[in-house]
Amino acid sequence: MFFQLSPFTLNSYICASFNTVCSGINEFMAKYNTLLYYCYSTIADAEQFASDHLKFCKSLGLTGRIIVAEEGLNGTVSGSAEACTTYIDTLHADPRFASIDFKVDEVDEPSFIKMHVRHKSEIVHSGLRDPHIINPQKQTGKHLEPKDFLAMKDAEDVVILDVRSNYEHNLGKFKNAVTLDIENFRDFPAKINELAKYKDKKIVTYCTGGIKCEKASALLLHEGFKDVYQLYGGIIKYGKEAGGKDFEGKCYVFDNRLSVEVNSVNPVVVSTCFNCGKPTAKMINCANPECNEHFTQCDECGETLEGCCSAECQAHPRKRVYDGTGYYVKVPQPVNTAKRAKIVTESNL
Ligand SMILES: [Zn+2]
Ligand SMILES: [Zn+2]
Repeated sequence: MFFQLSPFTLNSYICASFNTVCSGINEFMAKYNTLLYYCYSTIADAEQFASDHLKFCKSLGLTGRIIVAEEGLNGTVSGSAEACTTYIDTLHADPRFASIDFKVDEVDEPSFIKMHVRHKSEIVHSGLRDPHIINPQKQTGKHLEPKDFLAMKDAEDVVILDVRSNYEHNLGKFKNAVTLDIENFRDFPAKINELAKYKDKKIVTYCTGGIKCEKASALLLHEGFKDVYQLYGGIIKYGKEAGGKDFEGKCYVFDNRLSVEVNSVNPVVVSTCFNCGKPTAKMINCANPECNEHFTQCDECGETLEGCCSAECQAHPRKRVYDGTGYYVKVPQPVNTAKRAKIVTESNL
């Protein structure tokens, strides 16, 4: 009997094998982690530490951004699960960093393109002329674990204070939270007077990962607020450990993802398209590199305006190619040629 594989059968066979190979690759691809962490702990020779730490991160093949200061470390790094575990174990083995609470996310691809470790005067810019007035290692708001925050947040005598900037709380915040009209955390100290009416209440501060709250709550105590708490580990840890209840919208993050989901209990979209006003949770950077505004924009307006905030930006000669994500990187990723074609040479960092 003569048997011949029809082209159709052959094709299906190849497709099936190809899919198996692809899903194998996808499984492999999913094994990246992104770590978010900070710690206030004295680093005597911070500048030397920063250059040694960069070499260490590169040796593990990590990408990300780390700030090193005499007062501690602030970082987001991304890499293979194995490299991330080695990174965590190495830092925990150092007595200065033994108590770091790493927030770990599983991601499909590394959240950064390059590895930066920078030495600065503060791990988060507080805008205080003398940052030494405020030392979270000595005095800061009482830490609230996510479950304790959940139990406390709706009490009558509690004020929930968002210490983040406008572009962050516009995208998402806790229901009934007090927000401040600030473009940057360094503007926070100047806004404290506006909070004077809450002096007799319990103030609970929150931010993305907890680092700003260490300083914000310390500053509130310094200014005479008596009963000050902070959401330990920030919105991110609250989402992971307490389901994110009553966080409305999405949480802005400082990497390729731009925003992450927090609330798996009662999620709602609170942000609206900057251009047409329709509800949307999509956060983008304006495609005009000289504007680079962070704003929310629906997919339709994104297409019409090519990822720009306005017609003026759309007409700008240096306008970047909008690929639907609204995220732009400075350096092309050397390993992924398909992506490379989409990447243009400007940064929003
Ligand atoms: Zn729109
Ligand atoms: Zn613009």
